[in-house]
Parts: sequence; structure tokens; C-alpha cells
Amino acid sequence: MTNNILVIIGGDAAGMSAASKVRREQPNRKIIVFEKSNYTSYSACGIPYFISEKVKSADELIVRDPETFRNKYNIDVKTMHLVKEVDTVSKRIKVLNKEKKEEFWQEYDQLLIATGGKAYCPDIEGHDADNAFGVTTLKSGINIERFIEEKKPKNAVIIGGGYIGLEMAEALLIRGLNVSIVNRSEQVMNTLDPDMGAIVSDAICNLGVKLYAEEELKAFKVTDKIITEVITSKQSIKTDMVIFGMGSAPNTEFIKNSGIELGVKNAIKVNAQMQTNIKDVWAAGDCTETLHLTSHKHVYIALGTLANKTGLVAGSNIAGNKAIFPGAVGTAVCKLCSYEVARTGLLEKDLKSLGIEFVTATIKSKTRAHYYPDSKDITVKLLAEKNSGRLLGGQIIGEEGAAKRIDVLATALTHNLTLQNIIDLDLSYAPPFSPVWDPVQTAARKLINYI
Ligand SMILES: Cc1cc2nc3c(=O)[nH]c(=O)nc-3n(C[C@H](O)[C@H](O)[C@H](O)COP(=O)(O)OP(=O)(O)OC[C@H]3O[C@@H](n4cnc5c(N)ncnc54)[C@H](O)[C@@H]3O)c2cc1C
Repeated sequence: MTNNILVIIGGDAAGMSAASKVRREQPNRKIIVFEKSNYTSYSACGIPYFISEKVKSADELIVRDPETFRNKYNIDVKTMHLVKEVDTVSKRIKVLNKEKKEEFWQEYDQLLIATGGKAYCPDIEGHDADNAFGVTTLKSGINIERFIEEKKPKNAVIIGGGYIGLEMAEALLIRGLNVSIVNRSEQVMNTLDPDMGAIVSDAICNLGVKLYAEEELKAFKVTDKIITEVITSKQSIKTDMVIFGMGSAPNTEFIKNSGIELGVKNAIKVNAQMQTNIKDVWAAGDCTETLHLTSHKHVYIALGTLANKTGLVAGSNIAGNKAIFPGAVGTAVCKLCSYEVARTGLLEKDLKSLGIEFVTATIKSKTRAHYYPDSKDITVKLLAEKNSGRLLGGQIIGEEGAAKRIDVLATALTHNLTLQNIIDLDLSYAPPFSPVWDPVQTAARKLINYI
């Protein structure tokens, strides 16, 4: 019987969102999930908080374990099974059972690829040392935590100042380590404009992190499989452990000869239904590219928000419904100790490369009424199209209560709102929550003067 066996590769956010949706819609459908690790449906986003011990056990990060999927949902989850090849002509995949060290072919009627991404690892001798860690899977988080517990490192060097590097810096500071960040560009967080990144760089230094900006990783000094020094373009830094926070790339090498079309950064090209160019092959999550709703270009954004949504849409369509994932505007938040950082939409450099004329304004305000206790600083930067006043992007940095204001801007971007539309929004106010004019509206009021 055709369209009977659904095979899913990857058992985390996207894969298991899809599997669960199909199970709800098709109670008798045969669903097999191949997952190369021991875990399913865990929150990679929670790893820094497990390492900082805010979350006490790695088990708390697991939403549903393989046994629950098998016993309660009748989803045949096969952990420790690595998929090595996809044969889209014969509709089968080559699988390695890692425990038995046996390979076999599994046929499918429909296939969903949800293999996520992997941390960039520099191609430098020593990158695989026993004290060097990428941060992507739950296993990598457990390895880092175990290393800190057992080896009691005093110094850590994080390569890369993106949001994962910053979240790991917070975790390691809380664990009492001296933390250094080596960052190739002048400011951390290249998902922000440099002027906003500079505020985050200052915040990091205020927290006691040593930030080595405009320095490039060149080599490691390794003794007995342990990195003892990180050598940059400017100096050598002694360390007890190294964390790679250099961004991520989609896990798609194993499909390179399958005929499945790849796009930006080798992420899988999909349509709005999450179908690939090959019939009966679907893809979702961090292994796929995303349509940016503001630039109308395809981009690579690796976020749990999108993995859950695209997994749900793929599952819905695989089960025979008609669901659409329209795209995204690149909304993200992160926290570094008391600082909150948020962004959505396009940056100045994106707009320049797209040839879009734009204006920007940055305001400083407070998270609560100025007289209300514990009011914190908040900085909001907006970017808008010069002639129309259409919002093109927003960035927010502040302390408690700052970051989630980005959701107003994300909503505005998704619906192509102008600065006037934002000013007209009936946002809530009471002294403990905001000034009378919410800071995002204050920023819109300033920027509209330049339109
Ligand atoms: C430290 C950290 C913090 C994060 N914080 C946030 C956050 O705050 N907010 C946010 O939105 N996002 C965050 N993310 C990103 C978010 O975790 C990912 O976007 C999300 O997990 C992607 O889900 P996915 O299912 O597409 O891929 P993954 O979660 O990567 O899952 C893919 C699965 O496929 C398996 N797999 C891969 N290749 C194969 C193969 N060949 N055969 C079998 N199995 C395979 C992997 O083992 C993995 O379990 C964070 C990520 C990290 C690492």
C-alpha cells in the first residue's frame, strides 16, 4: 500500500513535531524515526541553563523520551541509528545501527528529513581535543557539564561571540570560571548592527568577561589531547577548556548525491508546504532554508521557533492536510546575566546589499515608569524604509522586561506595518510594566520624523 510508511530522519524538535502531528491525524499510520543519538525531543535551547545548574538535570530538558513515543504514541523511534544515505529513486535510506554496527536499507513511502544543524568546528589541529566542545546536541551539553564537574577547569575560551557563545559565557561565569571570548569582528553578535553590538560588548566586559575583539583563531597548543593555549592573530591565551560558538551549518552532507536540491549554506530547499524538489520527500527545521518575509530572499536561520513550526506544517501536509509555512522575519532573543538582547528583521548591512533606502533611529528609555522602583534602561533601534515608513527591522537591548518587546516589532514586520501603524497600536500601560509610551513606540515616533 503506497503512502503507508512514513520515515523521519532526526528525532528532535522538527522531526518529533511532525511525527506527533501525523500520529494525531492518522492513528494507524506506520511511523519510523531514526535518531543517531540516545535522545528525542529535548530542548537544546536549555543546554546553557543546564550547564549553569539553573536547570538541575539534563532529564528536565527532555520533553518526551523514546519510550514515551514508542509506548504511548506508537511511533517506532530507533535511537542510535545514523542515516548515511538517501536513495530517492528506490525510495529507501541506508541506516547504520550504531550499537550492533550493522548497516541496512529501510524503504519509505514518504520521507521527512529533520536532521538539524551542527556547530561549526574550525579545521585546525586540536579541534577534537578532549577539552574542546561544540554546543548543539544534548549529548554535547552533558559532556561539557561532566567535564566541568570532573576536571574543575578555571579558565575557558569561547571562540565566537554569537548568541550561543554569549549564553555559554553566562553559564561558565556562573560556574565560577574565568571566561574569555575571541571574536573575529569588532563587536559581538553579528545579528545586530555594530552600534548595538557595541552595547553588548560593553555589557560583556562589565560582567568580567575578557573580550578579544578583531582577533582570529589561528591555532591551538595541544598536549596529550588537551588544548592548553588558544593562539589568535594577536596573542596566546592559556585555557583549560574551549567552546566553539562560531555558528552552525545544516546537517545535509549525507544527502548530497540524492538529487534533493540544496540552497543557502547547503540547507534543503523547500516550498511553503515543506516539500523538497523530490516527490514524497519533505524537510523541516534547522536543515532547511527559510524565506525571509521582509527581504523576500531565502536565508539560513537555525532556531527552535522555526523548527517546531515547520515540523508541524510538514506533519500536517504529510497527513493530507493543506498547511503553509509562510516564512519568517528572523526574530530572536537571548540573555546574558542581567542583559537581554533581541532582534528582528533586517540589519543595515542587509538593506545596503539589497539597495533599499532606509532611515534609522535609536532611543534610550526605561522598562517601567521612571518613578517606579527597579526601572531598567532599554535601548531600541528601528530601521524603516525611507519613503514609505514601512518597518524593516528592530533591535532591543536592556535589562529585565526589555527583550520580549521585540514581539511587537516582529508582528509589525510580519504584517508590513509602517511606523505610523506602530505609533497607533493600542499597547498596554501601567507603571510597573512600561512608560506611558512604550519604548518601541517612542522609537517609532523619533524615526517617523526622518520619513
Ligand atoms: C545552546 C543552544 C541554545 C539555543 N537556544 C535557542 C533559543 O533560545 N531559541 C531558539 O529559538 N532556538 C535556540 N536554539 C536552536 C534550537 O535548539 C534549534 O533550532 C532546534 O533544536 C532545531 O531543531 P531541529 O529538529 O531542526 O534540529 P536538531 O534539534 O538539531 O535535531 C536534529 C536531530 O537529528 C539527529 N540527526 C542528525 N543527523 C542525523 C542522521 N544522519 N541520522 C540520524 N539522526 C540524525 C540529531 O542527532 C538531532 O537529534 C539553541 C540551540 C543551541 C545549541
